[in-house]
Amino acid sequence: MRSIAKPDLDIRRVLDELGSGLEVKNLRRLESELVEGEEEFTSNAIGGDFRLTAQKHPSIDPPDEDDVQWAWKNRFSSGVGRDMYDALKSGAGSRCPSCLHGRVHDLDHFLPKSKYPRLALVPLNLVPICSDCNGIKRAYVAKSAANEPIHPYFDDLGDEEWLVATVLEAPGAPLQFEVSPPAAWNATLGSRVAEQFKRLKLGALYADLASTLIGNLASGLDTRFAASGPAGAKRWLEEMLGTWKASNSEPYSIAALAAWSSSPFVWNGGWRVER
Ligand SMILES: [Zn+2]
Repeated sequence: MRSIAKPDLDIRRVLDELGSGLEVKNLRRLESELVEGEEEFTSNAIGGDFRLTAQKHPSIDPPDEDDVQWAWKNRFSSGVGRDMYDALKSGAGSRCPSCLHGRVHDLDHFLPKSKYPRLALVPLNLVPICSDCNGIKRAYVAKSAANEPIHPYFDDLGDEEWLVATVLEAPGAPLQFEVSPPAAWNATLGSRVAEQFKRLKLGALYADLASTLIGNLASGLDTRFAASGPAGAKRWLEEMLGTWKASNSEPYSIAALAAWSSSPFVWNGGWRVER
């Protein structure tokens, strides 16, 4: 999970870009209600509780909701508004802000469009996401503030590392990943990140990736170990950690190298699968 810059796009501009047609004409008639939805969502997001945003609006009836859904499908995620969709999608770079690993593939409605039709076209409600995370999140709505997903435009996770790995002393030096909340986070943010980590099964994902990673490093470790023993293996891991940190490698790989490079079990050959 990480923060990304808010898009420079609002619902008024979205409506301007949707072209013509009966449905779009109707949406323009509802402009003030849609703007109100955007404002309500934004102020609740800043206040830290997205769930306070009303699902329905008295002036928006079911046929209007159908028009919003139609515009999303035919004028935003495809059709004349696709440039806006693609611009929002590229706002996170290529990696998914939720799992920090998958390729961004979709825009997720942070508050689902099925339950919050007023927000279906609101850019601040549209978050880049990979297909795996999107498949898990779907129409999820938090039941309490402590379960609220992390919103990359509004939640500031800061620069401190929060992902830590522990070496399990078994062949191949498998890792166990967990969330270690930095002091700057309040308790709610800590529990939201931990909940999302669990919901997206990031511990299992990172453990798998780490197992592939150490397999790829094994022959390099063998070489350093043969030349300079455990100290050589340790030094090589530490150097790699420095280089990968500087080049902003994926967080799981930084946490993995930090754990392996400080584990005597690993320096002494723990990366080997067979002993
Ligand atoms: Zn993802």
